[in-house]
Amino acid sequence: MSALASAQAQSAPAEDDPPLRTGLRGNYPAAVADFDLIRQGKYAQSPVSDTDIKEEYDLVIVGGGISGLSAAYLYRAALGAGPKILILDNHDDFGGHAKRNEFHYQGKTFIGFGGTMGISTPYPYSYCAKSLIRDLGVEVERNPQFINHDLERKYELAAGTFFDKEHFGEDRLVKGNQRLPQFFAKAPLSDAARKDLVRLHGKNPDYMPGTSTQEKRAALAKMSYQDYLLNFAKMSPDALPFFMGAGGRNNKRVDTTPALEAAEHGLVGFNGLNLDLEQEFNEGSYLFHFPDGNASIARLLVGKLIPAALPGKQSMETIGAARVAYDKLDDPNSKTRIRLSSPVVRVEHEGALDRAQRVNIAYRNGGKTCGVRSRYCILACNNALIPGLMPGIPAHQKEALAYPVKVPLVYTNVLLKKWTAFQKLGVSRISAPCMYYPNTFLDPGSTVGGYAGLTTPEEPIIFHMTANPNKPGLPRKEQNRHGQHELLSTSFEQFELKIRQQLARMLGSGGFDPAKDIAAITVN
Ligand SMILES: Cc1cc2nc3c(=O)[nH]c(=O)nc-3n(C[C@H](O)[C@H](O)[C@H](O)COP(=O)(O)OP(=O)(O)OC[C@H]3O[C@@H](n4cnc5c(N)ncnc54)[C@H](O)[C@@H]3O)c2cc1C
Repeated sequence: MSALASAQAQSAPAEDDPPLRTGLRGNYPAAVADFDLIRQGKYAQSPVSDTDIKEEYDLVIVGGGISGLSAAYLYRAALGAGPKILILDNHDDFGGHAKRNEFHYQGKTFIGFGGTMGISTPYPYSYCAKSLIRDLGVEVERNPQFINHDLERKYELAAGTFFDKEHFGEDRLVKGNQRLPQFFAKAPLSDAARKDLVRLHGKNPDYMPGTSTQEKRAALAKMSYQDYLLNFAKMSPDALPFFMGAGGRNNKRVDTTPALEAAEHGLVGFNGLNLDLEQEFNEGSYLFHFPDGNASIARLLVGKLIPAALPGKQSMETIGAARVAYDKLDDPNSKTRIRLSSPVVRVEHEGALDRAQRVNIAYRNGGKTCGVRSRYCILACNNALIPGLMPGIPAHQKEALAYPVKVPLVYTNVLLKKWTAFQKLGVSRISAPCMYYPNTFLDPGSTVGGYAGLTTPEEPIIFHMTANPNKPGLPRKEQNRHGQHELLSTSFEQFELKIRQQLARMLGSGGFDPAKDIAAITVN
């Protein structure tokens, strides 16, 4: 029996394990409730005084994502297990974007990734990152052993595209390879759009003649994929809706993805430009992933930092099934502690910056403001928040930290009670260019550690859906800000409605009934 199968047979997870919580996860409202106050300067004066500070550490790390956890690991690797380390995170689970989603249903555990999914081969990574992955015992080159192709092969499923009535005149699911002219023959499109889409999906001429590769790359980096398609590839605007949900890896918006990223991601329209893409990061290498994505990396790190939280010898084969003892994360007897649900609101040097020997850190926990003192502090949290945490940092640092604006991104996992509709329609993944979730797929997960997420069509399975809310027409960063705001102000009920409606429309002709076929939803 595999590690996971035996764990499933023996122990049901504790009901209050954070990965099992459904509904709104990711940046759920309580986790980020203090962030606006930090930005507004509520904590410009430190809210804790000397007498409030009861604990002292050698190192405090703000943020328990992969960066914060690996910072603790590397600090200990350099200085030994002696130093006292505290990691503070605003979420009720560690891992940051590397978030594990779990469903326990009908006696079986289903594992999904609620955020960062894949580890690429070590090639683009630094020596430090490669060493860390090796220390954790993760062998990314074993990836081919763990990819399960049975979903498509055994059940003869293919990709599908859902054309919606609002943008294409009718709801229609078209099965098949978008690279083939036959696909477009079946799609509800105008003649002009069809002709251009067939052209773009074939061998393209050089749409930027008379410029060097370097000039092309520089120009593509500064324009959106949409502008490239319309202004250089001279695509009819009629065809634009087909590309609405197309972009790079994590930004699937044609109007905000830089054209160069789209080209590197292998999107259509660029194959006549001779861009030397082979030298770029190889997307094909981006395949190794645990069923819970990089949450397994976070869990392996926690096992190294706090062995009592993940007892036994953990490896890439066992970590998926292992249960975290959350009550051991913040154990006073442990040299390294992780304190969850603890947003840091202020970080301040004790005394003048050039002479300070200590840092005071104020954080919120259970409705109270608390303080800790530390020799060192690492900010492994959101960059954009740092000027609020440390208002005294120089203006040029504030400016640099404010420069990037995160692309808003939702990963939703839906546990379906059965997937007979997919089998009937012959699809395993559906792109729906103009719907809220343009990218959706059945996710049986990889089989690392013997995980068996692939089921028969009459059994439950995870369906993964991704979205990048934005506001077409605004400049790119404004769109991202707008999308972030929209995400943070959308309730779970609103998400649920969108999910149910989209699934009903895409899969209704296969007999899918959202009222009967959905078991649980987690929105990250
Ligand atoms: C949906 C999604 C998918 C992704 N997919 C991939 C992928 O497949 N592969 C990949 O390599 N990368 C992926 N990424 C990028 C991912 O962000 C990074 O790989 C990595 O996980 C980031 O780790 P981090 O620790 O730097 O940041 P984070 O994961 O963001 O961790 C920072 C932590 O600090 C916490 N924090 C912030 N402010 C405070 C505060 N004031 N007090 C206390 N805690 C605070 C945050 O809430 C968070 O928990 C993805 C990102 C997202 C959002």
